[in-house]
Amino acid sequence: MTVLQDSFSRTVDYLRMSVTDRCDFRCVYCMAEDMTFLPRAKILTLEEILEVARSFVALGTRKIRLTGGEPLVRKGIVELCGQIAALPGLRELCMTTNGSQLTRLAQPLRDAGVDRLNISLDSLDPERFRQLTRTGDLVQVLAGIDAAHAAGFTHTKLNAVIMQGRNDHEVGDLVQYALDHGLDISFIEEMPLGVISEHSRAESFFSSEQVREQLARRFNLLPSTDATGGPSRYWRVAGAPDSRIGFISPHSHNFCATCNRVRLTVEGRLLLCLGNEHSVDLKAVLRANPGQPEKLQKAIIEAMKIKPWRHEFNHSDEVQIVRFMNMTGG
Ligand code: SAM
Ligand code: SF4
Repeated sequence: MTVLQDSFSRTVDYLRMSVTDRCDFRCVYCMAEDMTFLPRAKILTLEEILEVARSFVALGTRKIRLTGGEPLVRKGIVELCGQIAALPGLRELCMTTNGSQLTRLAQPLRDAGVDRLNISLDSLDPERFRQLTRTGDLVQVLAGIDAAHAAGFTHTKLNAVIMQGRNDHEVGDLVQYALDHGLDISFIEEMPLGVISEHSRAESFFSSEQVREQLARRFNLLPSTDATGGPSRYWRVAGAPDSRIGFISPHSHNFCATCNRVRLTVEGRLLLCLGNEHSVDLKAVLRANPGQPEKLQKAIIEAMKIKPWRHEFNHSDEVQIVRFMNMTGG
């Protein structure tokens, strides 16, 4: 069986797909308040997304994560999940969501074959939650987290982006919430993706190291040997075996050597690295060669040659990558 490998002999078996650039939230670190979204003709149809997923799985991809934008605002998402989950050879279908639609959709997603969810939660204070997401309703999201549990999802992970002066004092409460609900939690450093004017990224930067120092004052943190091949480094809290605490630190630590992933934007562009612009237009290949998956697969194999060795982010206000996270599939 063919296995995707890049020019540094890294095996690529994990695909993250952005299924929409749209979202019902406008998180301050992710979007501008007045976002212009893409016209329908520019984004991949559900059939095209499935086609790309099918080709990747045929090329050895074992894990697919659907993200966005908010994946659950795309019409037909549950059916798409069912079709992707049924691809022979795929081991895991995951989704990253803001949780706002889960009271309605958790059970249908589970029934469709979605294995795991990551749910974003930056604050447990309704007002602050509203400020950070601009439109989000905390009560709805917490109900969504409960709905995911009730639907049978396990190993659910919370994602929290921590910003100095905004929610940095909440890290302990967020961990306590995760422990109380048997969830994993990952703290993410804000990344310089897209131009935002709401705050200065240089001033709001709060490192994983700082988060860990704060947590260590309240919890007995034990380093964990768990590794996912991804950017998270994990810790556990003594006496709480069900939860892992992860730190995603694109600035402070380099995780590129074990990178096993590529991303598909909602426009059908294959991004070889989150922190670089190297990409290949798979939508053009798809639309020029309908019904010829071998052409698509050839383009994917070729694309691996330009996967860069590593990314460089610094935490200044200089925008290093012009794309917004909702385009990229964070
Ligand atoms: N809407 C879904 C959600 O919020 O979970 C999925 C897409 S969202 C782009 C995926 C993750 O990226 C979220 O956990 C979000 O907090 C994170 N994110 C967005 N913009 C970011 C940025 N500039 N730096 C770091 N993380 C970011
Ligand atoms: Fe929407 Fe997720 Fe971006 Fe927030 S982080 S604006 S929920 S896509």
